[in-house]
Amino acid sequence: MIDLHTHTNKSDGTDSPRELVNKAISLGIHVLGVTDHDTTSGWIEATQSARGEISLALGSEISCLTTDGISVHMLALLFDGANLEMQRMLEDNRDGRLPRMAKMIEKMQAAGIDISMDDVESARPLGATLGRPHLADALVIKGLIKSRDEAFQGLLNNDSIFYVAHVSPTPTQAIQIINKAGGVAVIAHPFASMRGQILEVSDFEVLVEAGLHGIEVDHRDQNPDERGILRAIALELDLVVTGASDYHGNGKVNSLGEFQTSPEQWEKLESRADKRRVVGA
Ligand code: AMP
Ligand code: ZN
Ligand code: FE
Ligand code: FE
Repeated sequence: MIDLHTHTNKSDGTDSPRELVNKAISLGIHVLGVTDHDTTSGWIEATQSARGEISLALGSEISCLTTDGISVHMLALLFDGANLEMQRMLEDNRDGRLPRMAKMIEKMQAAGIDISMDDVESARPLGATLGRPHLADALVIKGLIKSRDEAFQGLLNNDSIFYVAHVSPTPTQAIQIINKAGGVAVIAHPFASMRGQILEVSDFEVLVEAGLHGIEVDHRDQNPDERGILRAIALELDLVVTGASDYHGNGKVNSLGEFQTSPEQWEKLESRADKRRVVGA
């Protein structure tokens, strides 16, 4: 089993990297992608937890924004974690999330919702990349809503009046930096339309020119028709097709290993990194 997209409590998942790796080993997953939002801070603990029983594709899910303001998530896998340009991009993204959260809280306060930055900070695990799920957790703790899911269906949805974007690289910039750092770039859930506006079919050619390697096709937020279109685009543009769970622990219904990548596609993807960077097994 190969699952290339998961989160830990270093961003908005709820399992520690050790818990995630242990769960993956007991499920029989043999290649696991560890892809926290805009950070590599879970890599060391994940690596120490592998104990030769699982291969890890260490990575990060980078939040991007197109020049048209469309939110795009780019999975970066198998890159050099010490690459300065990459770490600067991740750090800039994390920095941008603080004023963005402050603005969202300000809008909510102005609407009479009793929530503060302190509430959100209490809900965020130490050192985790700050995100809307932590704001959702704070609202749950205050008894204002029941779950993260409820938050994302209303108050915290991309179409909500409370939504604020954070400063991010464009998908093209992110792909270029991922390549320079020796890694591979896979666009995450590109047709997940319930999250807001999505890319057009024609946008993929530009991303391939920038160095895109793959498309996440099999993901719960894309229906069979959407997956079919993405599979055809991947075939046309000679891109790797991946499938993954986007597991977030208790933070989302997605279960570890629920969607997978085939061994052939994984082999193709791994061969496109500048060298062998899988760790663990
Ligand atoms: P942000 O990065 O702050 O814009 O928050 C987006 C994150 O919220 C994404 O990583 C999603 O995985 C997560 N998310 C989106 N929808 C939901 C949901 N219904 N329940 C829990 N988490 C969600
Ligand atoms: Zn997330
Ligand atoms: Fe995502
Ligand atoms: Fe994700």
